[in-house]
Amino acid sequence: MQNREKFSSVNLSKKMVENLQKLGYEYMTEIQAQSIGPILEKQDVLAKAKTGSGKTAAFGIGVLSHIDVKRFRVQSLILCPTRELAQQVAKELRNLAKFQHNIKILTLIGGESFGKQLGSLAHHAHIVVGTPGRVLKHLNKGSLSLDELNSFVLDEADRMLDMGFIEEIDGVVSYIPQKVQTLLFSATYDDEILEISKKYQVDPLSITTEEQE
Ligand code: ADP
Ligand code: MG
Repeated sequence: MQNREKFSSVNLSKKMVENLQKLGYEYMTEIQAQSIGPILEKQDVLAKAKTGSGKTAAFGIGVLSHIDVKRFRVQSLILCPTRELAQQVAKELRNLAKFQHNIKILTLIGGESFGKQLGSLAHHAHIVVGTPGRVLKHLNKGSLSLDELNSFVLDEADRMLDMGFIEEIDGVVSYIPQKVQTLLFSATYDDEILEISKKYQVDPLSITTEEQE
């Protein structure tokens, strides 16, 4: 743990740092130390770090810092490969956002009632965490608007490509306004990841960590 940077050394709100402390997060993991600063600066980031290295908080802290809770619009969209992962990411974001009482984080995943999701969307959300197919369905139906999006995250991008989601992801991206910060997180890199990075990102900062747990 020596030589690790503390969360308090980054330009985060006092409330965020206090909440992180309550969660038992005092020192940043390597991927967090390398990516949170650039994410706060609204840079596109392509990040590779192994499973369990704290990628959710790496993008989550940055994404949450750019949410204006007074604007009742979807400002961040996070895509995950499976329902379970989407639920886990939403849970972690809710923990990270505990001090922001009015923030609404909605999951849009397959296997749940579409009608119920329509109702939730009508009541507004600041952040949507979902699986590609269900998110695209809402976009096609017009029940989800991304007009005021400021960040877009592809979590576990390698797994989403392995699972054959590229068409759905392309479909979702066609609804995303220009100039949205795009963050690509993956446990591995291959040509396909680099290809989608080229397609979706602008001048991305590429980060690779080889942290030993
Ligand atoms: P990944 O997405 O890279 O597989 P996760 O984001 O799921 O990893 O994080 C793995 C675990 O590490 C989670 O239980 C999370 O709560 C914990 N964690 C993340 N960042 C920190 C930190 N800075 N300090 C302590 N625990 C952390
Ligand atoms: Mg993860």
